[in-house]
Amino acid sequence: MRVHPEFSPRQAHTERTPVHVIWMTSGLGCDGDTVAMTAATSPRLEELLRGAVPGMPPLVLYNPLLAHETGEAFVQHWYDAEAGKLDPFMLVLEGSVPNERINGDGHWAGFGVDRATGQPITTCAWIDRLAPRAAAVMAVGTCAAYGGIPAMKNNPTGAMGLRDYLGSNFVSRLGIPIVNLPGCPVQPDNITESLMYLVLQLAGMTPDIDLDDQGRPRWLFERTVHEGCDRAGLAEQGDFAERPGDGQGCLVKIGCRGPVVKCNVPVRGWVGGIGGCPNVGGICMACTSPGFPDKFMPFMEADRLGKLAAHASRFTYGPVIRYFRDRNMRTRYEVEPEWRRPSDQLETGYRGRW
Ligand code: SF4
Ligand code: SF4
Repeated sequence: MRVHPEFSPRQAHTERTPVHVIWMTSGLGCDGDTVAMTAATSPRLEELLRGAVPGMPPLVLYNPLLAHETGEAFVQHWYDAEAGKLDPFMLVLEGSVPNERINGDGHWAGFGVDRATGQPITTCAWIDRLAPRAAAVMAVGTCAAYGGIPAMKNNPTGAMGLRDYLGSNFVSRLGIPIVNLPGCPVQPDNITESLMYLVLQLAGMTPDIDLDDQGRPRWLFERTVHEGCDRAGLAEQGDFAERPGDGQGCLVKIGCRGPVVKCNVPVRGWVGGIGGCPNVGGICMACTSPGFPDKFMPFMEADRLGKLAAHASRFTYGPVIRYFRDRNMRTRYEVEPEWRRPSDQLETGYRGRW
């Protein structure tokens, strides 16, 4: 277990050393993950900021979208983190990392202005300055994790995910690999829960975070969309929607990619347990996948194997399963036991003495 030196197991509970979070939204992205995070309910962002989670060190968030401060006063936090005045701090990146080696005469993305030169400070420069000093580093959203939409084929910026930029062997000052939280945007509770986990880990209160080979927290991303989908039972018995809005039926024939995508949204819902793409009639577009979007386009078109599986289920075992389920329900399970009616005799089979 890696504990930040600011915390000893006893201090964590008493002195409440805060953990600072430098949240960069200056990657190539849309700020959608920050917006999504404000809808989290388990835990709420407010609970993390107010230190309301029992035993957890309070979190101090520096996020341009949510901050009251603007301009130089706000950028000062970035300088403070670089100078070691915010310790411990976590670095969070939202948006993908452009390739500034091919920016021509300008720059692709930046944040703040260099006080000496008057030139913009690029996002890449901030990553170079802050990542080696951070106690933990998290890439939030598919853009930051794997490149996402800005990194589509033929894009001019050479955009990439944070792990592509820093190298897959990168570990934080505390030896923690980059934590990837994909999603477009990320499911809100996945963000706050992962933040909470990392803060607790820095304080020595949890085991090291368990990541899979794509850097994702395993407990959030170990199952496919299909495994958690409300419609999986319908797929099994051969009920498929033929067009959007077709009522109850699996959506694989109209382009759902749930069987090959790891995401917990159908299980967790979107806000407060409500929603979750295929549960509420929208196909899974694979937004959490490292291959998104290129490997899943054109959207709304079933892939060949998905269609084949749907045909197999629909015309072979699906109807058989449905027939026997219906029959068993009708004749056996949806019928009350025969002793539950008025009679002069006790017919429950009870043989004891009164
Ligand atoms: S709608 Fe998608 S995720 Fe749900 S059962 Fe069908 S293929 Fe699987
Ligand atoms: S279910 Fe699919 S489209 Fe919806 S959030 Fe998960 S990966 Fe993205």
